[in-house]
Amino acid sequence: MQWSKASLLAQAMGKIDEATRAVTPPIHVSSTFIRDPDNHYRSGNIYGRPDNETVREAEAVLAMLEGAAGSMIFGSGMSAATAVFLALKPGDHVVAPTVMYWALRNWLKIDLAAWGLEVDFVDANDLDALRHSLKPGRTKLVWIETPSNPMWSVTDIAAAAELAHAAGARLAVDSTVATPILSQPLSLGADIVIHSATKYLNGHSDVIAGALCCAKDDEFWTKIKRVRATLGQILGPLEAFLLLRGMRTLDVRVRAQSAGALMVARHFASDSRIAAVLYPGLSDHPGHAVAARQMQAGFGGMLSIRVRAGEQAAIATAANVRLWKRATSLGGVESLIEHRASIEGPGTPCPSDLLRLSVGLEAPADLIADLDSALGANR
Ligand code: PLP
Repeated sequence: MQWSKASLLAQAMGKIDEATRAVTPPIHVSSTFIRDPDNHYRSGNIYGRPDNETVREAEAVLAMLEGAAGSMIFGSGMSAATAVFLALKPGDHVVAPTVMYWALRNWLKIDLAAWGLEVDFVDANDLDALRHSLKPGRTKLVWIETPSNPMWSVTDIAAAAELAHAAGARLAVDSTVATPILSQPLSLGADIVIHSATKYLNGHSDVIAGALCCAKDDEFWTKIKRVRATLGQILGPLEAFLLLRGMRTLDVRVRAQSAGALMVARHFASDSRIAAVLYPGLSDHPGHAVAARQMQAGFGGMLSIRVRAGEQAAIATAANVRLWKRATSLGGVESLIEHRASIEGPGTPCPSDLLRLSVGLEAPADLIADLDSALGANR
């Protein structure tokens, strides 16, 4: 009998501790391991920088969810993402989207050249623009994020994979917001999937972590493994345990958060105080058709609203909420509201009237009432 992914996830692959018969596996904290008397290391564990069983347990769950040949958990989403670029060679060309997680965009803009890599930014939702940005033979990596921060635009993963592969490049997809519950990019042709596991995977705003998954356990994946081991980017065992525990409820959390976000989006779509609601689940969102094709069970827990009265009214709205928490980040059980341009800083493509909303697990009717009242104060 083949159990469903939801069942395997709830039981974190059903692993128990054979020594004690404990249902919850122990946390493996050892930084070093005994060498065999004949000088071998048959356990497969040598040293804690590359080797940790609790981390491997979390990796096995994620690889199962993504249908991946391999998975690696990192100390943050940024360390996972940058490891992919650091596994490229000097002289390689990469393409990244103009709208993407801002800290990674800044790293690509400011620091990538120092590693000998060249980057071009393109509107990845425009497939013609993406095609023209590729330099066949030189472009080695196409990076996309879908739905992408903070406008929740949607890139066609299968089409982007085809274009990247035709040019001899790999496709990497930041799927943090979609999560493996809603989308499995590897099954659509992507080569690498990235998660900020800080967000939905852990889900409780108490761990910073990242993850990569691969379609093939090939030379490039081996190189990324070397980057993680050499730069010491592995997640600590205590955080790996929390991540593993958080992931057990990922399926129910993401479904409920997606349903809540859709209710919030629909409610404010016709509100005269709102200039636009950006959410791929709304039928008038430009990426809705593609999102409906490549996402199942919902469109995610993230949306943005643009406040008609402008930047100061948006900031005042965020100041007036009582149930929503005014904070950056996303994907936790508590709902967050953020004036996004304030954190992204100068040069951001984020409109100044935009509030980013991360819908948690509170009653959607309460979230709607709280935001409605916060907006009302600015009329
Ligand atoms: N990717 C996305 C889409 C994110 O939202 C974030 C963080 O906000 C990251 C990557 C970076 O992850 P971390 O903060 O875990 O380093």
